[in-house]
Amino acid sequence: MVLDLNDYVASYDDFPKKGVKFRDISPLMEDGKAYKQATDEIVAYAKSKNVDLVVGPEARGFIVGCPVAYELGIGFVPARKEGKLPGETVKASYGLEYGESSLYLHADAVKPGQKVLITDDLLATGGTIEATIRLVEDLGGIVVGTAFIVELADLHGRDKIKDYDILSLMKY
Ligand code: 5GP
Repeated sequence: MVLDLNDYVASYDDFPKKGVKFRDISPLMEDGKAYKQATDEIVAYAKSKNVDLVVGPEARGFIVGCPVAYELGIGFVPARKEGKLPGETVKASYGLEYGESSLYLHADAVKPGQKVLITDDLLATGGTIEATIRLVEDLGGIVVGTAFIVELADLHGRDKIKDYDILSLMKY
């Protein structure tokens, strides 16, 4: 039975600050069948792109990307926030829907020419994904696709990454 994944996304008004409607994928992750269905859709997409490596930004990008990498038998690289990675890093700064931040990759984490899929739970303004793309490309990786559980269409994140292929399982 194919589930309607929309039934597994919760909405919270005024979180994390007033005026923001937060879409939460916790119910999807808590349900084994829904989590597997979402993962399987992203795995099929990754297969169609011949992906060598999955990269996901902290922290929900890990939740989406790790099972995809596991299923494909390929590596997963976390894009982490300030002060988390012990080795030599590359850095990209970006603006969020709320606030500003930086992401880092270990400088040897992506090999030149590797075909990379970037995963995250949600595409909002596109700042996070755009910064993650910059990091991968700084290291010589080729971003062959991006995959999200949810896309907030009103925030036009896809306009920021219009040269890249996007899979979003649900749009609001
Ligand atoms: P963007 O950089 O595209 O504006 O925001 C996307 C990033 O912020 C993602 O890493 C995502 O986890 C987080 N984010 C922003 N808004 C929301 C939201 O409404 N729900 C969830 N789950 N994450 C959000």
